[in-house]
Amino acid sequence: MSTTWALALHGGAGTIARTSMTAEAERAYRAALQTALEAGAEVLRRHGPALDAVEMAVRSLEDCPLFNAGRGAVFTHEGHHEMDASIMDGRTGLAGAVAGVRTVQNPIRAARLVMEHTDHVLLAYPGADELARQHNLPTQPAEYFFTQHRYDQLQEALKEGKMRLDHSEAKQPNEDPKKKMGTVGAVARDQHGHLAAATSTGGMTNKRYSRIGDSPIIGSGTWADNRTCAISCTGHGEYFLRAVVAHDIACLMEYRGLSLAEACRIVVHDKLAPVGGEGGLVAVDSAGHVALPFNSEGMYRASLTDTTPIYIGVYGDEG
Ligand code: ASP
Repeated sequence: MSTTWALALHGGAGTIARTSMTAEAERAYRAALQTALEAGAEVLRRHGPALDAVEMAVRSLEDCPLFNAGRGAVFTHEGHHEMDASIMDGRTGLAGAVAGVRTVQNPIRAARLVMEHTDHVLLAYPGADELARQHNLPTQPAEYFFTQHRYDQLQEALKEGKMRLDHSEAKQPNEDPKKKMGTVGAVARDQHGHLAAATSTGGMTNKRYSRIGDSPIIGSGTWADNRTCAISCTGHGEYFLRAVVAHDIACLMEYRGLSLAEACRIVVHDKLAPVGGEGGLVAVDSAGHVALPFNSEGMYRASLTDTTPIYIGVYGDEG
């Protein structure tokens, strides 16, 4: 039976060790991934567009304080939140992104607004917040984005004097504190054969100088093209930017005729890993095949298609 719709999502990749994850924390992550998967799958089952499915899945993850995006976004050096997001429609090739937004409750909605209501692709900082306000997207005061564990992570990072990638709850000893990543994202193929991808992040703890990672950069953190694949990345943004990861996978498929799995393997394991580009991605191709590759110890990930059951993974040894 061939797949008609498919959905995959991630909640960040990094050093996630089974030995140090508490049962309670693991249950909470898995439940949040399942809720987001259901939010997107509901759209696809009703013959809705892939674009709506990825937006709904990412919104669900942004609303969950466990993940480094939206509500759970990490703190900047100055103690603010600067969130990045992007979305791409594989049917039309249109894309939208925001970087450094501080007040938008769901940055992925702002990214979609840029795509659908402006002539631009990427808007940043106060201008992006202003556009969201003009279009009546829900905004929130700084307190909404305050989570104690993220605040504690900033204090630790300030002490170390380093910028850090964070993806989960600090104080839960489930990872090496120096190696943390986080971001959320989703990819989908809908019943009409259209693809879409969406990514949203708070970036890196203790980031400064208006640092922007790969997540809002079309081609690096996010890509969708009906002819090849849809991709959403998570990992050390500077490496993903330099390797133009998402578009590179699509190019390997388009110009070299590789399968999704093979193209992902080359980019994630052969190109990124040797240079220290830790992370992973979720991907779906035009036939509905799903790939969830990562070169880090773990990646919060989930997938579901109309022909396969729900898959939820956290560690490196699960399927
Ligand atoms: N890629 C994101 C960034 O560099 C962070 C992550 O995915 O962990 O901003």
